[in-house]
Amino acid sequence: WSKDTIALVTGANKGIGLQLARELARRGLTTILTSRDESSGRKAIESLLEEGIDRERLVYHQLDITSPDSVDALADWVSRSYGRIEILINNAGVNSIGVPDLEQAKYVVETNYYGTKRVIEAMVPLLKPGARIVNVSSKVGDFSYLKNEWNAKLEDIATLTPSSIDEMIQEFFRAVEAKEIKARGWPCMGEEIPLAPPEILAGYSLSKIALNAYARIIAEKLAREKEIFFNSMCPGSTSTAMSGFKGHSVEIGADTAVWIALLPPGTPEEPLPHGRFFMDRKDVGF
Ligand code: NDP
Repeated sequence: WSKDTIALVTGANKGIGLQLARELARRGLTTILTSRDESSGRKAIESLLEEGIDRERLVYHQLDITSPDSVDALADWVSRSYGRIEILINNAGVNSIGVPDLEQAKYVVETNYYGTKRVIEAMVPLLKPGARIVNVSSKVGDFSYLKNEWNAKLEDIATLTPSSIDEMIQEFFRAVEAKEIKARGWPCMGEEIPLAPPEILAGYSLSKIALNAYARIIAEKLAREKEIFFNSMCPGSTSTAMSGFKGHSVEIGADTAVWIALLPPGTPEEPLPHGRFFMDRKDVGF
């Protein structure tokens, strides 16, 4: 890895994303720090420069992952500026608050799932053999939180397609609208949170379940056809705005993503992982 390695981090103005950009730039990679709000992204760059990171290693570009125009503009700029990208870290995300209504459920899924998918689709043509994609996902995206037929459908990788994920999402939205999230077997891990309604994280969980399912399908194809290594990770409960600043440090939260992104090239005996899910640098499956 060198200054000729181009890395891009989404949602990098704060939290885990800012730490990811810091780690990559510190290691000398040319790091594109992106944020939906330009002024907070530029402030983040300034803060990293004040820490002593080389100005040449940090580049800013705006990116709102929910906006097709913004994603296209970024891809176009990367293509004209560098012609390629070696490391893409999909970190941007939002949480759900309270029991989701349809509007909130759509916002979370549109950002965490469709937004991330949009960025991957736009960037794949710029990824060369050996490139890495890392999704900052979550263990709440474990398929076992689904207590309906979608658990088995997602596990059946041979028949799973992005359209089946769309179908699952539409079914979830119908349950949200009917106020039957729990009754229809959608994620209710909030039962583990005292005094919280069990459906509190349903939209967030579903968005990460969809993301993890998509990663599984696409990772296989990307590894086979383009030698691109695509994996997902969970940062664990990390002290950021999203968690109400509860949990471990962003250094710990970002560590596994940086580690997977920078794994040395594989060998025929020990090929690089793809389509796997990591936590604390361990492959924990889905
Ligand atoms: P933060 O809220 O601190 O950061 C989230 C980042 O995503 C911000 O930069 C935010 O920008 C950005 N973002 C949100 N929506 C968009 C969008 N439409 N386009 C571009 N950027 C966007 O949270 P974290 O750092 O904790 O979250 C980072 C990732 O880690 C998320 O994917 C989250 O789901 C995941 N995660 C976090 C955990 C935790 O305990 N913190 C646990 C498990 C997973 P803005 O500042 O403009 O809002």
